[in-house]
Amino acid sequence: MAEHESLEFGKADFVLLDNVSMEEFMANLKLRFDKGRIYTYIGEVVVSVNPYRAMNIYGRDTVEQYKGRELYERPPHLFAIADAAYKAMKRRNKDTCIVISGESGAGKTEASKYIMQYIAAITNPNQRAEVERVKNMLLKSNCVLEAFGNAKTNRNDNSSRFGKYMDINFDFKGDPIGGHISNYLLEKCRVIFQQEGERSFHSFYQLLRGAPDSLIRSLHIQKDPAAYNYIKVGGQIKSSINDGADFKAVADAMKVIGFTGDEIQTVYKILATILHLGNLTFGVDGDVTLIENTKLVSILRELLSTKEENVEKALLYRTVATGRDVIEKQHTVQEASYGRDALAKAMYERLFCWIVGRINDIIEVKNYDAKIHGKNTVIGVLDIYGFEIFQNNSFEQFCINYCNEKLQQLFIQLVLKQEQEEYQREGIPWKHIDYFNNQIIVDLVEQQHKGIFSVLDEACMNVGKVTDEVFLQGLNTKLAKHAHYTSRKLSPTDKSLEFDRDFRIRHYAGDVVYSVVGFIDKNKDTLFQDFKRLLYNSSNPVLKGMWPEGKLSITEVTKRPLTAATLFKNSMISLVENLACKEPYYVRCIKPNDVKSPLLFEQERCRHQVEYLGLLENVRVRRAGFAYRQTYPRFLQRYKMISEFTWPNHELSSDKEAVKRLLQGCGFDHDVAYGKTKVFIRTPRTLFSLEEQRAEMV
Ligand code: ADP
Ligand code: MG
Repeated sequence: MAEHESLEFGKADFVLLDNVSMEEFMANLKLRFDKGRIYTYIGEVVVSVNPYRAMNIYGRDTVEQYKGRELYERPPHLFAIADAAYKAMKRRNKDTCIVISGESGAGKTEASKYIMQYIAAITNPNQRAEVERVKNMLLKSNCVLEAFGNAKTNRNDNSSRFGKYMDINFDFKGDPIGGHISNYLLEKCRVIFQQEGERSFHSFYQLLRGAPDSLIRSLHIQKDPAAYNYIKVGGQIKSSINDGADFKAVADAMKVIGFTGDEIQTVYKILATILHLGNLTFGVDGDVTLIENTKLVSILRELLSTKEENVEKALLYRTVATGRDVIEKQHTVQEASYGRDALAKAMYERLFCWIVGRINDIIEVKNYDAKIHGKNTVIGVLDIYGFEIFQNNSFEQFCINYCNEKLQQLFIQLVLKQEQEEYQREGIPWKHIDYFNNQIIVDLVEQQHKGIFSVLDEACMNVGKVTDEVFLQGLNTKLAKHAHYTSRKLSPTDKSLEFDRDFRIRHYAGDVVYSVVGFIDKNKDTLFQDFKRLLYNSSNPVLKGMWPEGKLSITEVTKRPLTAATLFKNSMISLVENLACKEPYYVRCIKPNDVKSPLLFEQERCRHQVEYLGLLENVRVRRAGFAYRQTYPRFLQRYKMISEFTWPNHELSSDKEAVKRLLQGCGFDHDVAYGKTKVFIRTPRTLFSLEEQRAEMV
């Protein structure tokens, strides 16, 4: 329990609720939000509610208050979690990770930045130059990643459209000496399409609004975003963001990080290429498909440093191998448009991954001594999309929700495991706790042969008809009896399954109806080999370097590329493996309303999040064991005034004996277990009562 806080702000730890019910949980959450207390604990988990206003709680003075303190000594705060992770890493030589989850706009990315800031603020007391360099890189990399990976959405003006996991490496002094970033599933369809009211990635608008005239001219672009089909779809050209100023900040950050001039120029050329591609239109003349605005072809050739006829050919033809023959097959207008959009999306995605790769090259631990011989421990920070339930849920939501199932599984394993280990360490018998184990849903998605991803991959490899409907039939056949799967066909009278194309998964966080439309296409994620060849054959070495697989001619391309689902599954499995060997800390973010208001706490909306984040379950797990635990000396420090045996000092053989005596004296002995170094109190009532007695004394 967090001390130094009066109850007028509600309970600083949900474990202390009188009853673990949704009503009490919500009442406490709301009370704290209304009082400006945005953080609350569940044991060592921080629950955070987005305040939607500047809070004066992240400054130097606050850092000082949390530095080196124990979690429960100060009011709940992100800094306390960051400090706990840092201390575990430094004192106990543990790799730790901080997992931040919550839906879009709940405050995950801001939280991850405050955590990084805190770690930067408390490290490198001796101002070592190399450490300062690394810290600067780690902080600067954020600004670049946000420019290319974030966008204005209807939920968040600066929404991260990718998942991010960042490892920070520390040396034996506890100072950062390097790092590594992994990125997950960039929402690349945003490159060509945005919902009403949304924008494409910031980078495009920054370029148009901030580039100096000479650059604008050399890229053959104009400053008005409305001139570009791909980025004007959402109708939201403006935003609260100052794109012009951000362009300069990002350009500076890229320079500081160490991108070369050529690299930065290539980045701009790729952005401009994508903008031009969006304006390219196709027509027919007799039975010939052609490009209507040929002027753009020359511009593309120049930006991509390729031959003019190559660009045109790649856009209009497809090389196919039929037996021993290689033929060039002309696209229809529809195929050509599909290819153009696929190219735009793929170029952007590749650019983004390349940027992450370059940042990694630069922040990677350089000092081989430190890497091999020295102590090298890690704190990982995971800022990844939360559970998504939209009006219309597709492949992307399916992947994201699967990711959350994996993380929930990890949470169950680790939190329970941690509890269990602590009881073992302290020599206290452990009672099994019942909880919903979502492994069954994880299996439903990822199991070999029977899982949804396998069925999808199979459907994609069908010879003959490859359609979303075939995929759905496959699901219905294989999963008809699965308790967590159903579809319109299997449950024809179910009202929530409105259309024939719908299927429903019972996720741990609730039911989600998915539409199969687009699953096949998004999973295959086809980019014609002709485009890869085109880019590989560029005389711009930076661009060429992004497309190594373009080296192969069509007859040499034998293996199918891995599907999007398989790639995502593999990346999730390795993410979870990586997290599982670290000591985890959790931040659970809640979004209080949909209108970005600092005043509004929408009860229903918040309740729903509390539900699907599994927070009540979390409290129950925590309480099923012992609600409160404290080392003997610290316990005495707080409560010794309530017993004549311990006030002002005890004369017993040990602090443990003194605590026993104190609790026996109060009649609480039955509710308590005495570990080797800590006292464990089962029910919060006991603790309240101790608190009350203490309040009477002081
Ligand atoms: P997420 O990453 O979960 O989608 P963000 O971290 O981008 O959400 O937060 C969305 C917006 O909410 C931010 O741009 C900011 O305006 C506001 N916000 C989030 N956390 C805080 C905070 N701790 N203090 C003040 N404003 C915040
Ligand atoms: Mg974010």
